[in-house]
Amino acid sequence: MKISFPHFGNAYIAGKVLLEECGHTVITPPVCSRSTLELGTSKSPESMCMPFKIFIGNYIESIQRGADTILLTGSCGPCRYGFYSYMQKDIIKKLGYDVDFIVLESFKEGIPQFSKNIKRLIGSVSPNKLLRSSRLALKLIKSSDDLTCLSNEVRAYAIDKDKVNFIMDSFYKDADDIHGFNQLQNLINDTERQLRTLKINRNFKPLRVGLIGDIYTIIEPFINLEVERKLGYLGVIVEKSLTPTKWLEHHILSYPFGSKFENEKYSLARPYIKDMIGGHGRETVGSAIYYRNKGFDGAIQILPLNCMPEIVAKSVLKRVVKDIDFPVMTLVVDEMTGEAGFNTRLEAYVDLLYKRRRGEMIIG
Ligand code: SF4
Repeated sequence: MKISFPHFGNAYIAGKVLLEECGHTVITPPVCSRSTLELGTSKSPESMCMPFKIFIGNYIESIQRGADTILLTGSCGPCRYGFYSYMQKDIIKKLGYDVDFIVLESFKEGIPQFSKNIKRLIGSVSPNKLLRSSRLALKLIKSSDDLTCLSNEVRAYAIDKDKVNFIMDSFYKDADDIHGFNQLQNLINDTERQLRTLKINRNFKPLRVGLIGDIYTIIEPFINLEVERKLGYLGVIVEKSLTPTKWLEHHILSYPFGSKFENEKYSLARPYIKDMIGGHGRETVGSAIYYRNKGFDGAIQILPLNCMPEIVAKSVLKRVVKDIDFPVMTLVVDEMTGEAGFNTRLEAYVDLLYKRRRGEMIIG
């Protein structure tokens, strides 16, 4: 099986190794780019949200590289993600591509189909080997998330911020070319060492901003116009409210109770949103309050145009911001988003945060 999957931040690094351990040839889609988006947009219904269009672009680019099977997760949630697999299969079929889809729905949607899909993925791998490989994959996901987090922190303090980008770009390039857990873990360790040797301004007091909103938009650098790097250049440390590690801890490792971190967000959001509204809309509201309680300077909500849960969260946040006196800026992204306007808004927001820190501004 020549298997591929859509990009989902840096989770592809561990996904690639795990699927290779199961005996598959893995075709990683090229890093998301303007051409991925244009390709996906040209084949998708106009009203679909941006992740849908990028996924379609990823599939086509992988198929052109030789993929014959696409792996994606399903969802029964109340937002568009619940329709992704059905619509995307249909689009790819109508485009004339002969590929199989493996849609990993939650086992709550039916154990027989879930088991069938897992069997297809693991093939003849023994349970022991699978368990060992899964543990290593989880470790890799966490290590690569920690590395991104470290790079964000170092960038805010670094005297030469370009060097941070150079180290991270080399990391992503090398990660594409190497195979196996040990090699990847060594690469992560080596990259971490390089980041830690960079010269930093120890007297600098960076701003701290939480990134909240739709999970895909938070973790995929292309869709959020590299917001973490941009903020790092402005001397801001960014913490992402959702990462592949946080998602796995909540939905898989702590099942059925959920992780402490996510449950805390639900409690904080409860006075404003009691129920799940699809996507991560409820978490967005809880995260804003969480970051305020943790002493962050502000939070930025990023959402794709037409994202229903985040539109609801955005309107609720207007009240939250007043109640807790915390500056939250919302940025909407789609295929028409211009980088210059995006940068200007970030700069203005960071200026506002510095003014607040100096006691020159209040919200509301
Ligand atoms: S959460 Fe928003 S962006 Fe993500 S699939 Fe649902 S509607 Fe689309």
